[in-house]
Amino acid sequence: MPELPEVEVTRRGIERELAGRVISGVAVREPRLRWPVPKDVHRLAGRTVRAIQRRGKYLLVDCGDGHLILHLGMSGSLRVLPSGTPAQKHDHFDLQLGDRILRLRDPRRFGAVLWTSADIDGHPLLAHLGIEPLSRALHPARLYQLTRAHRTGIKQFLMDGRRVVGVGNIYANESLFLAGIHPRAPARKLSLERCMKLSAAIKQTLRAAIRAGGSSLRDFVGADGSSGYFQSRYWVYDRSGERCRRCGSAIRRIQQGSRSTFYCPTCQR
Ligand SMILES: [Zn+2]
Repeated sequence: MPELPEVEVTRRGIERELAGRVISGVAVREPRLRWPVPKDVHRLAGRTVRAIQRRGKYLLVDCGDGHLILHLGMSGSLRVLPSGTPAQKHDHFDLQLGDRILRLRDPRRFGAVLWTSADIDGHPLLAHLGIEPLSRALHPARLYQLTRAHRTGIKQFLMDGRRVVGVGNIYANESLFLAGIHPRAPARKLSLERCMKLSAAIKQTLRAAIRAGGSSLRDFVGADGSSGYFQSRYWVYDRSGERCRRCGSAIRRIQQGSRSTFYCPTCQR
């Protein structure tokens, strides 16, 4: 599943290619995505792409008087291709921009293509999203404040997109290792000092993944459905039973909610 770093890498690649271009047409080959692709999406023609923004894992094509909302779902990817490139199976949606097309491929069809001309921050899909982990909104005092009311372990807090959006399972595990925090540590008892370490670790982990994704980016734009760009470099994620790269202890795996958590019993307290 595309995670926040892949979505951000996609955003940067698309924005570089498409900002300033005029939308010349739209092709919908399969409207049955997670939600039906709206019929009036054809009216986008003639608008100029001002910027590509991101909120959580939603990409927002800013057209000035509204936003095209894109989501990659479980298996989606976006590519910028020369116009006229034949569509393959699962290529459900094209935004045409002169001699370029932005093409959504999505085999499992959990992705989304939506349009809104209303206030984007108030959109039902976005209004309840938590703070952006890569923005200044995530800082130690804010994390300290947000965690006070949370009765669960810190790992589950990080997985709750209404508090901090888009950290995801891989990066939550890796960030907690870097910060030396046990995933079951009660969120509301985290000291300000540990909130400082954790907010820095979250940014560090996500930025490293974006850098790794960005360096593999050429004409191809963004996530291809494969998970993680730096799998071999994980500290704890998916390494149950293997040795901690820092202290040699065996990495443990536990279940929290419906997700697997991996941690080092020595490095994380
Ligand atoms: Zn360790």
